[in-house]
Amino acid sequence: MDFKLSDEQQMMRDSARRFAQTRLAPLVTEDEKAHRFRPELVREMGELGMFGAIIDERYGGTGAGWLASAVMTLEIAKVWASYGLPFNMQMHGPAYTIQTFGTEAQKEKYIPGLVAGKLLGGFAMTEPGTGSDVAGMKSTATKVDGGWKLSGQKTWISQAHVADMVLAYVSTDRAKKAKGMTCFLVDLKGNPGITTRPIEEKFGLYCSPTGEIFFEDAFVPDDAVLGQVGDGFKICMTQLESTRLSCAARAVAVGQAALDAAATYAKERKQFDQPIASFQMVQADLVQMYVEHQAAELLLYKAAVSRDEGDLKNGPEISCAKYFAAEAAVHAANTAMKILGSYGFSLEYPVARLLRDAKSFQIVEGTSNVQKIILGRHLLSLYE
Ligand SMILES: Cc1cc2nc3c(=O)[nH]c(=O)nc-3n(C[C@H](O)[C@H](O)[C@H](O)COP(=O)(O)OP(=O)(O)OC[C@H]3O[C@@H](n4cnc5c(N)ncnc54)[C@H](O)[C@@H]3O)c2cc1C
Repeated sequence: MDFKLSDEQQMMRDSARRFAQTRLAPLVTEDEKAHRFRPELVREMGELGMFGAIIDERYGGTGAGWLASAVMTLEIAKVWASYGLPFNMQMHGPAYTIQTFGTEAQKEKYIPGLVAGKLLGGFAMTEPGTGSDVAGMKSTATKVDGGWKLSGQKTWISQAHVADMVLAYVSTDRAKKAKGMTCFLVDLKGNPGITTRPIEEKFGLYCSPTGEIFFEDAFVPDDAVLGQVGDGFKICMTQLESTRLSCAARAVAVGQAALDAAATYAKERKQFDQPIASFQMVQADLVQMYVEHQAAELLLYKAAVSRDEGDLKNGPEISCAKYFAAEAAVHAANTAMKILGSYGFSLEYPVARLLRDAKSFQIVEGTSNVQKIILGRHLLSLYE
């Protein structure tokens, strides 16, 4: 397996790095304080082709591939994890899933806008009573003349109150559980049966909006169904493998940022008349972060390159990458806080933010326990 970046991949990585350094870095401190999200930055990322790597050229993508999307995500999320999320909300979630399951009309309606960052997207599975057990969801769609009426509540949805459209997963036949789920392409604006509201207070990812969606007999037409009625669970699992890989890239990026901050600080900070980096206990912490980061990056690259080589059924590889990278990111950020001492506790340094943001990776796209469940099944199947 070759992890060497092609000229095109290097160009895309460099362009994302330039954007992160010139457009994002100067805004981090101020926007984190204000919990501000800037949709114009998503549009600029779209203009630079960041949301097109796994999308066909005919819908505005570049087709540059999964590794290209991972290396761009790494550059962005290393500087600001909140702006790593739009990769999922635009491309890995809605655009890729519509490209995989949609009709030609659905692809033309949504994908170019999502890729360009002009149309803000999202995906909605989670409900107040339903998280890991996706098939246990309570939201329903009832058949009516010419379409469906959606009822229920979605919560913890990234971009919910700013998005133009979401993939909404609801039950069309509760008795059938997973086989009774259906995915709808829902335009959130201008529908009298849909309201959204932000979740104002959260632990991290301050500049990535999160919110709730309420469906009250919200009418959507028949052609809003993605795939077939009853295909929702299958579509959801396909979408999650795509968004999970992107989450792994964000986690690797935050692990790298924590290592950079800790190593730089350890070389500058003096105690007992010498840099704290000269103490072997501090070195041991840095080495642990470094090795875990290297391993997480390799798992990410392996999963991305497998997909570029045509293996789109590499869920276990993706779960390995996401699980390990999430745990490594939290460990790295936590260790960075330890190395920075009281300055780690200060909001003047970025490591407290890194820890807050890293915790999300253990939750989203299937918690760390859920990844272990997936990997447990896979591992045992190897011994049948
Ligand atoms: C910042 C952020 C953004 C998000 N964005 C989105 C989004 O865009 N769209 C969306 O649909 N959702 C989103 N979510 C929700 C997220 O996907 C869910 O929080 C996640 O799936 C876990 O569900 P839960 O919180 O209900 O936890 P639960 O499922 O209630 O789990 C609670 C705990 O129990 C453990 N657990 C549950 N079942 C098992 C089991 N069988 N075995 C062992 N342990 C188990 C879990 O691992 C976890 O530790 C977001 C969440 C956050 C924090």
